[in-house]
Amino acid sequence: MKKSFLVLMTAIGLLVGATASAANCVSQNEMKEIASHFTQFRNLANKEYCYDGSQTSNLIATIMYMRTTAFEADMPKSSDELFSGRFSSSWYEYFIGRIADINVQASCPKGVGAYVYGFGNTMYVCPMMLTDSFSALDRASVFMHEARHIDGYPHTTCSKGPRKGLQGACDRRIADGGSYAVTVETYAQIAKYATDIHPALKAYSLASAVTYADETFETPAKVERRDELLLVSKNKSFFALDLTKSNQIQALGQVAELGHIVNRAQHLILFPEDKNLPAKYVFTKNEGEIAQAAGESVVEYNAETPAQRAELLDLHIGAQWIAKVYASKVRFACDPRSSATSDLELKDTQAVGIAYLTGYDRAGRLNHLMTTNGTVYEFGCSEAKKPFLRASTVKLDQNFKRIHKVGNVVVGLTPEGNLFQIDGVKSTPLTTSLDGQIYEIAPRQSYGFFGN
Ligand SMILES: [Zn+2]
Repeated sequence: MKKSFLVLMTAIGLLVGATASAANCVSQNEMKEIASHFTQFRNLANKEYCYDGSQTSNLIATIMYMRTTAFEADMPKSSDELFSGRFSSSWYEYFIGRIADINVQASCPKGVGAYVYGFGNTMYVCPMMLTDSFSALDRASVFMHEARHIDGYPHTTCSKGPRKGLQGACDRRIADGGSYAVTVETYAQIAKYATDIHPALKAYSLASAVTYADETFETPAKVERRDELLLVSKNKSFFALDLTKSNQIQALGQVAELGHIVNRAQHLILFPEDKNLPAKYVFTKNEGEIAQAAGESVVEYNAETPAQRAELLDLHIGAQWIAKVYASKVRFACDPRSSATSDLELKDTQAVGIAYLTGYDRAGRLNHLMTTNGTVYEFGCSEAKKPFLRASTVKLDQNFKRIHKVGNVVVGLTPEGNLFQIDGVKSTPLTTSLDGQIYEIAPRQSYGFFGN
């Protein structure tokens, strides 16, 4: 039997969400209704059902999410390709029109969350999806994606882009309305139109919608956006710097802790300076927090002692590979279908941090690394999944704490809290109203559809 239509999460595991925050129990009436369609729950239909964190509990929470999530009555489509509204009417009716049985698997290959076959009405769900580190929101999006496969719409192997070479990880284009279009639409609908969802979950959905729009189509979906540089001030405030508008700075929200911000596709992860604190998704406009880990590398980090956490200097999260930067080595995970890692050592110098001289690029295979003796290294994973770390010819004229590229401008942050524009070897001051007050920078995008 051939598993034709699976939802691919790759080792980098995009589909990680918050724990369900719905009410703790489902009424007997609701249970009866659910069991009338999904007969696997008929033994639970004669009384109220209370969530207990079990796989069954998480399945029921997801079904309830599809049944009860409230949206605005009027949901205009976007002027780009993020939201057409064609799957927006009733998620639950759409789902039960295609799926009648949910079969929980004992184990699945790495990166697989759920799948259906090219026949029948059973959806197979992998145990990973039913842990508390996935939210009902994410599961609902995956379930809708799988239901779309019942209508046809198999995936293809990506021939280019962040998921290049990954089997069954792309659709041709979003306008075809295949399963990844459903994924983008469900996240975009929550982000824009859900009326009763925590602001942090909406912000998470926004980033997820754009990430899938960017990464799962052979022809990337059109998303109206603007590149900005996110600044964190020493007094714990977020700002957006627009380099196309004479370095205009816009105040955003506050951040609870100073720390290093790592990009994960369109998501931002904060690694607090206080190593007693865990790393987590961070949102820039006072949306609050979501209560789950931001992917495997963060789960690993949070399981470490504060002393071990302090050893991690920087982290690159590409679509298919991850590099953890330590003072004397870089640890690579180059194969998205394997948890194997390999270390390459730095000789005669120590790492300072990643320099994104060519930008944070999820599809890219090479980044630069600043070191204490001034030598800039290049590192990455080749398409053949081989790690490399070697001295480069790149020169910098001063020490930087962080380097990012926004649009066509390469910006460096000095340890003193000032910005410089870097052109080749030479750097010149990039003056803003926050000179000397900048603690951290990271690239950020804002999007037309979401009005920010
Ligand atoms: Zn799929």
